[in-house]
Amino acid sequence: MQFIDLQAQYKHLQDKIDSRIRTVLEHGKYIMGPEVQELERQLAEYVGVKHAITCANGTDALQLTMMALDIKSGDAVFCPTFTFFATAEVIAFAGATPVFVDSDEATFNICPQDLERQIEKVIAEGLLTPKAIIAVDLFGLPANYPELERIAKKFGLKLIEDAAQGFGGEINGQKAGSFGDIATTSFFPAKPLGCYGDGGALFTNDDDLAELLRSYRVHGKGSDKYDNVRIGMNSRLDTIQAAILLEKLAEFPTELVKRNKAAEKYTAELSVRFNTPHVPTGYLSSWAQYTLVDENRDAIMAEYKAQGIPTMIYYGTCMHEQTAFKGLGYSHGDFPVAERLARQVFSLPMHPYL
Ligand SMILES: *Cc1c(COP(=O)(O)O)cnc(C)c1O
Repeated sequence: MQFIDLQAQYKHLQDKIDSRIRTVLEHGKYIMGPEVQELERQLAEYVGVKHAITCANGTDALQLTMMALDIKSGDAVFCPTFTFFATAEVIAFAGATPVFVDSDEATFNICPQDLERQIEKVIAEGLLTPKAIIAVDLFGLPANYPELERIAKKFGLKLIEDAAQGFGGEINGQKAGSFGDIATTSFFPAKPLGCYGDGGALFTNDDDLAELLRSYRVHGKGSDKYDNVRIGMNSRLDTIQAAILLEKLAEFPTELVKRNKAAEKYTAELSVRFNTPHVPTGYLSSWAQYTLVDENRDAIMAEYKAQGIPTMIYYGTCMHEQTAFKGLGYSHGDFPVAERLARQVFSLPMHPYL
């Protein structure tokens, strides 16, 4: 059995996907072709925002938010320490300082209480300017945006939603990708909505930010790509990937139901033995991962392996303990909840064709 069975999905959608790819090969508009515009319209409609802007991958999407929000040296950007590296990487890459935040015990997402503590600490120290929060919809569950929006407003910070794993999730019917000032996602093949290579997107309701993001995405373009009004990057989604995503997006609502059915079944069977994932009332997870917590993780993973069931650890190292962030001066023990999660979490196979 596979951890994520992408072939099963391809078999299910093969005729439609093959035909979409053939259309692109025939019209030959491989960069920014009509499928890219069609996908951006459909993504905006699905998420329920004014603008969806595709780009080359989920990391670039986050980097583009740093550029559009003018985040730079001397700025503090708050993010969870228990996340994928890219969330924190883009902050440092922009020259700003990542300020890590502990996790909520029940949801594994950024802890709003610790976030307030960390913001107040940075203000009290007076060395950095608090600028933004990047919240992560870890394993598919949206972060606590009602609280995060209140905190962002209280301290005058921008809020960014890293929905790389969260696409499809909801809070009280509001879709992941629609929270904060800008949201980002990734279409890496293993994400809930994945393509057959690298891909990403940004979402916003702000017309000015959308225009800036579209400019930064193509060499800081003004009226066209040979009129360059700012320093940008080259981060476009390939037309072929957009074509594949159009067919996958059409199937996505059905797949989301299947993922939730699989998760329900896991929880029903496993809750006698494990601490199963907590989905707060009103929340819907897109189940990028189905993650358990156990003190005897290694023994349990070996037990599953012996039965032919693959498991993975997301994530075994918190950001504050990554070698690349040594210079920030954090120590072991700084984030007790996140550190315990890093020691005890493991994920089971999860995909709509399970
Ligand atoms: C996958 C992921 C990213 C980066 O996406 P890529 O498309 O691989 O660049 C960023 N943040 C989180 C939380 C992710 O899981």
